[in-house]
Amino acid sequence: MTADRLTNFIDGEPLSNQSGETFAVINPATGEQLYEVEVADEFVREKAIESARRGFAVWSATPAKERARILHRAVALLRENNDSLANVEVLDTGKPIQEASEVDVATGADVIEFFASLSPTQVGQQQEVDGDFYYTRREPLGICAGIGAWNYPLQIACWKSGPALAAGNAMIFKPSEETPRGAVELARVFIKAGVPRGVFNVVHGEGEVGQWLTSHDQIKKVSFTGEVGTGRKVMGSASETLKDVTMELGGKSPLLVFEDADIEEAVSAAMLGNFYTQGEVCTNCTRVFVQQSIYDKFMDSLLERTRNNIIAGDPTDPDTNFGALISEEHLELVMSYIEKGKQEGATVAIGGERIKPDSAPDGYFVAATVFTDCTDDMTICREEIFGPVMSVLTFDDENEVIKRANATPMGLAAGVMTTDIRRAHRVVSKLQAGICWINSYGASPAEMPVGGYKLSGVGRENGIETLHHYTQTKSVYVGMNKLEAPF
Ligand code: NDP
Repeated sequence: MTADRLTNFIDGEPLSNQSGETFAVINPATGEQLYEVEVADEFVREKAIESARRGFAVWSATPAKERARILHRAVALLRENNDSLANVEVLDTGKPIQEASEVDVATGADVIEFFASLSPTQVGQQQEVDGDFYYTRREPLGICAGIGAWNYPLQIACWKSGPALAAGNAMIFKPSEETPRGAVELARVFIKAGVPRGVFNVVHGEGEVGQWLTSHDQIKKVSFTGEVGTGRKVMGSASETLKDVTMELGGKSPLLVFEDADIEEAVSAAMLGNFYTQGEVCTNCTRVFVQQSIYDKFMDSLLERTRNNIIAGDPTDPDTNFGALISEEHLELVMSYIEKGKQEGATVAIGGERIKPDSAPDGYFVAATVFTDCTDDMTICREEIFGPVMSVLTFDDENEVIKRANATPMGLAAGVMTTDIRRAHRVVSKLQAGICWINSYGASPAEMPVGGYKLSGVGRENGIETLHHYTQTKSVYVGMNKLEAPF
């Protein structure tokens, strides 16, 4: 790679394409081009597969303990280079450095560390049966594909490659064409740490390159993060070759604020779950249900804190806590949802417009927006917006709010704010969501499995069970008795 051109990263090094085809990556905070990226053409794709096959042969034969040692070295390198990697993420995504330097690299490293530690713990079972016995081996799948979204580029690449590599697989990763650098930086870290060439290759391009990965017969599994609609296409394509799939998709998650909640904590949850990463987080609680009796108090604090505590601007400034949306196109999409909200009768309590902060006047910023007077059937309360747009709704009783919270085809996350311990667990047990937070919102440690119910996903990432998604069981039956046959 030169400063202004990023190539595919195959077999441990940059590989130029033959077609010469490139696309541009734009800094969302300035609207200026950052660099060009080479598309993975036929030549690159073929090399990616050949190299991953060789990489898999070496890596799957490497003792698990050794794989763990190498991956732990990668974790150390990620942490040592936290600030420069965070910078890459800030330039590509437009998110504040304040977040990227605290969260993005750290949570990526944590997940690789967690799976590296688990790598040597994979055991099979054995059982005696009628004097014979069998045992099982957990074996890697082969070459896996990772396809990532643009909101947490490096973290997503770590969350997918961590368990895949720990289990002995190779991975070909396609980052979003809007944020392709983080994955290449990770590939470099892996090589520096001693991961063999070909075990983690990065290919660039749009959906068509992703589609190629999902249909290739040498690829045994696809781990995808993106929109529900794209997820459907990925699953359809993967079904041709009966690939295993993991899908981390979108959401329209509810936050339930009961009258006995700590109001300031509830406001913190609502703001974290709508304005962190300028609202571009899959688990966001974009439907905030507030019990009628505390509505006024809740709104006073929410509006006061939204007005006074959000600092939008140049994301490289450590004081900025609210960044730019990923692209002009996405900004227009978010603004079109805001317009729909107004047209359908919701009230803009704050925000609702594009902003041009002095320190980043050409960036794609939308103000932190809160809608009130919302009803469940409004477009803004049904569809994922993926921007800083919160809809506040009110409710009277517990059963009613559970029913309304569940009335969505999606089921990624949910939050419950209450100081009544019994209510908290009772409500959570009835919520149709793969991730539930009680008096918290958004935390996602490596140890905790995450994924969606309903249309929000298939399978899980993180947590011990994810390792099973990257291995297959081989049963070995051993005859100890003399083998007889009727022939
Ligand atoms: P997209 O679905 O648009 O894209 C995701 C990835 O899929 C990109 O790399 C994209 O390539 C690629 N892609 C596009 N078409 C195809 C295809 N036909 N076959 C294979 N791959 C394809 O999602 P976004 O990038 O817009 O990300 C935002 C979405 O991701 C939101 O819905 C959000 O909720 C979800 N998300 C879910 C998370 C979770 O853990 N549940 C976490 C983070 C985000 P390209 O963009 O380069 O064209």
